[in-house]
Amino acid sequence: MRGRRVIMVAGSLNMDFAVHVKALPAPGETVTGSPYLVSPGGKGANQAVACARAGAAVKFVGCVGADAHGDTLQKALQADGIDTAHLRRVNAPTGAAFVTVAASGENAIVVSGGANHALDGSDLPELTGVTHLILQLESPLPAVCAFAQAAQDAGVHVTLNAAPAQALPDSLLHLVDLLVVNAGELAALGAAQTGLDLEGQLEALAGRGPRAIVVTLGEDGAACWSDGRVQRTAAFGVQAVDTTGAGDTFVGVLVASLPLMPLAAAVRRASAAAALSCTQPGAQLSMPFSPAIDRLAS
Ligand code: ADP
Repeated sequence: MRGRRVIMVAGSLNMDFAVHVKALPAPGETVTGSPYLVSPGGKGANQAVACARAGAAVKFVGCVGADAHGDTLQKALQADGIDTAHLRRVNAPTGAAFVTVAASGENAIVVSGGANHALDGSDLPELTGVTHLILQLESPLPAVCAFAQAAQDAGVHVTLNAAPAQALPDSLLHLVDLLVVNAGELAALGAAQTGLDLEGQLEALAGRGPRAIVVTLGEDGAACWSDGRVQRTAAFGVQAVDTTGAGDTFVGVLVASLPLMPLAAAVRRASAAAALSCTQPGAQLSMPFSPAIDRLAS
C-alpha cells in the first residue's frame, strides 16, 4: 500500500504552547492555567503527520527558523518518516502558536507565523511521483496559489484546507479538487450570506470552482458535496478532552485515504481519526495510527 500514493504537504510548522483552563478567559480577564505543554504543531506539519500515520508516504515543504524550535519540528516530522528535504531554514523565528484549552474541550489559539511567512512559489520542488498536494492558509496566499497552479498543471490532485478562515478568490478555488473547511471557514468564504441551507451553500460554493467540498461540523460530524449531492457523516462518539488538531487530523487522514476508497468512505475514516485525536491532549501528539483508525472506522 505504501509507495503508491505520495502526498506532498506544503504549509506551516509551529511550536505549540498549550495550557488548560476551566473556561476560556474573556477579553481583559486573567485566569490561572495548568502546567503548559510544549509540542510540535502548525496546520501543515499536523496534516503531514496525520497523513503519514494513516499509512501514506509524505513529503513536506515549508520554512522554519535557524533555531532550536526549528530543529525540534524537523525531527518531529522525521520521526513519522516524513521527507523533510524541502524544509527551508530562513532568517526569522520559527512559527509559534499559543493554545488555550477549556475544560469543555473548546480552544482559542493565537499564531505567530514567523518563518512560515517566508514560503514562496519557488519553494515548490519537482512534483514527479507526487499524486496529491495538501495546502492550507497559514502560508502566504501567493505561494498557495502558485503551488495549486503548478500541481494542477502537473495533474496532481489538490486539496485546500481553507484554514484559518478568510475570503478567497475564485481563481484559487478553480484550482482545487477537494476543499475542506469547518463551519467558520465556510462562512468566511461567503457561503452563509447566501441565506441558503447547508446543502444550498455547498452547491453555491461548488459553482465557484472546487470539484468536491467537505465541511467539518465538530461533534455534529461532516457534510460532503460531490457529484451534485450532499452526504452527511455522523461524528464518532468519544469523550473529547482536547479538540486541538481535530481538523488537521481529519484533513491528513482524508487525503491519505482518498486513493484507496470512495470519498464518502474516506470521510468516515477521517472522522474516526479526528474523533480519536480528541481523546488525547496536543495536536501531533494525539494523532492516531492506521490500526486504531481502522478499528474504529470498520
Ligand atoms: P476544526 O478543528 O478545524 O474546527 P471541527 O471542529 O469541525 O474542525 O472537527 C473536525 C472533525 O473532528 C469533525 O468533522 C469530527 O469528525 C471530529 N470531531 C471534532 N470534535 C469532535 C467530538 N467532540 N467528538 C467526535 N469527533 C469530533
